[in-house]
Amino acid sequence: MNLILLGAPGSGKGTLAKLLSSKLRVPHISPGDILREGVKQDSPLGQIAKPFMTSGSLVPDEIIMKMMEKRIIQPDCGKGFILDGFPRTIVQAERLDQMLSNSGRSIDFALKFEVSDECALERLGGRRICSVCDADFNLYTKPPKKENVCDICGGKLFQRADDKEEVISNRVKVYREQTLPIEEYYNHQGKLIRINSEPNPNVVLKEILKVLEVG
Ligand code: AMP
Repeated sequence: MNLILLGAPGSGKGTLAKLLSSKLRVPHISPGDILREGVKQDSPLGQIAKPFMTSGSLVPDEIIMKMMEKRIIQPDCGKGFILDGFPRTIVQAERLDQMLSNSGRSIDFALKFEVSDECALERLGGRRICSVCDADFNLYTKPPKKENVCDICGGKLFQRADDKEEVISNRVKVYREQTLPIEEYYNHQGKLIRINSEPNPNVVLKEILKVLEVG
């Protein structure tokens, strides 16, 4: 199954993408993760992307498309994939459709994750990530047992630079202006499914599997 996860920053799509990926046994592809890895390694891609990411703006379409085209033709995507954070502009959505149709594929569904602004802000502001194993924690909803230490591997936790308050507001603005129109793009194709992602992730997962009829 070829799925797209849509939703504002803090809507919980990353968490659900991981759960869905292991349940459906298809890769979870997040351009944000690929770019963060590039920044960490200080690769040429990371160097280009860093200033956009730090300010909460979008990395230019050409760079994202090149990166995603390379990823989606990998053999592990043959049985499907879960796209988390892509497409984020109409240009990306159109190019994705074109690229998939060239290989006889298409998007099955676009899941739109809906949460209140308060819930999204709590998720973003409280998010902490392990610097060693990438495990996710949240100071409010899923705190680590020991402050700033990963429960799983003991690594040090950190806050993403773009989860700081001043960047969050720009990310939300960019989402509303550039990414929200994509909802209509998939709605028009009859592929949009709205999901209430405010409950606990396992409850949301169950709901999605029921809607997709793969429970
Ligand atoms: P995310 O982890 O999805 O919140 O993405 C983190 C940052 O990576 C975003 O704020 C953008 O700067 C960049 N980014 C991720 N995905 C895309 C995309 N599809 N198009 C443009 N920029 C992106």
